[in-house]
Amino acid sequence: MSAEFDLIARIRERVAVRSDVVLGIGDDAALLAVPAGMQLVVAMDTLNAGVHFPAETAPADIGWKSLAVNLSDLTAMGARPAWCTLSLSLPEGEAAWVDGFLDGFLALAARHDVALVGGDTTRGPLSVCVTAHGFVEPGKALRRDGARVGDDVWVTGTLGDAAAALAQWRKGTAIDETLRVRLDRPEPRVAAGLALSGLAHACIDVSDGLLSDLGHICEASGVGADVEIDALPASPALRSTFDVATRRVLQASGGDDYELCFTAAVDVRDAIEDAVHRDDLVATRIGRIVEARRVSAFDMQGQAWVPEKTGYAHF
Ligand code: ADP
Ligand code: MG
Repeated sequence: MSAEFDLIARIRERVAVRSDVVLGIGDDAALLAVPAGMQLVVAMDTLNAGVHFPAETAPADIGWKSLAVNLSDLTAMGARPAWCTLSLSLPEGEAAWVDGFLDGFLALAARHDVALVGGDTTRGPLSVCVTAHGFVEPGKALRRDGARVGDDVWVTGTLGDAAAALAQWRKGTAIDETLRVRLDRPEPRVAAGLALSGLAHACIDVSDGLLSDLGHICEASGVGADVEIDALPASPALRSTFDVATRRVLQASGGDDYELCFTAAVDVRDAIEDAVHRDDLVATRIGRIVEARRVSAFDMQGQAWVPEKTGYAHF
């Protein structure tokens, strides 16, 4: 791409500085100073047009989301985000598209003091790959394998909003604006993840669907979980848009929520609420870790609730 260097220059002009970036965009690789005594946490996620977002999604929303999903992964480890890299595959080296993309990407980066330190720019089908890097104190990472029998299962925020927006988009009906923002501009729960490190036993971010992702915690921990389907937190927008049966499916298995699902001992309930509570964000108890190695959902009458599918699978 002949315009490749122009595009890189446009990106370089706009990136924020951090004192631990010894050398950022412009050399063969970035030089970064990991704070003494900290562990480096690294995550990578790719977004492909037509697979992870509708092709007509606004460039700024693609920019926001491509970083958000990576910060969400760092957050689910209890890490403090610091740096990121960006690989852009573009059908045309269009400066206006890149400018729009950066508007969203850098707005979220600024909010969490994340520096873009390098990347790659190529011609090809529209695809965005981001890596995010953060720090955690040794022994303090929130892993998937720490859940214990008797733990409460918690989730931050509300579930099902993003999947609801996607369902409306697929149907071709008008998309509720509150729901659309949850789909296009997910908020990584960075402060909650940091506050939970040292408190929660296990944690995952909900990307593929609650039951599916909670299943990953259970599998890694050698335990199971009972989930109260009617305890899953729902936004007013979701409640007013879908009937109960559809809402349950969207909340339990819709995915794209980027909320944190975590387990913690019963005797730290108050501490968990204090740790997560900030602005409008709350944590809700949705179930219990059990010995039986399966994830089951129940309604208020204690009847088993069986979803049609448990999460998004690519293959
Ligand atoms: P090289 O050929 O040595 O890999 P490139 O020409 O690909 O170098 O990149 C030049 C510099 O620009 C590098 O520092 C690289 O990290 C940075 N860079 C390239 N593309 C991007 C991008 N999309 N976002 C951020 N930095 C980028
Ligand atoms: Mg080189």
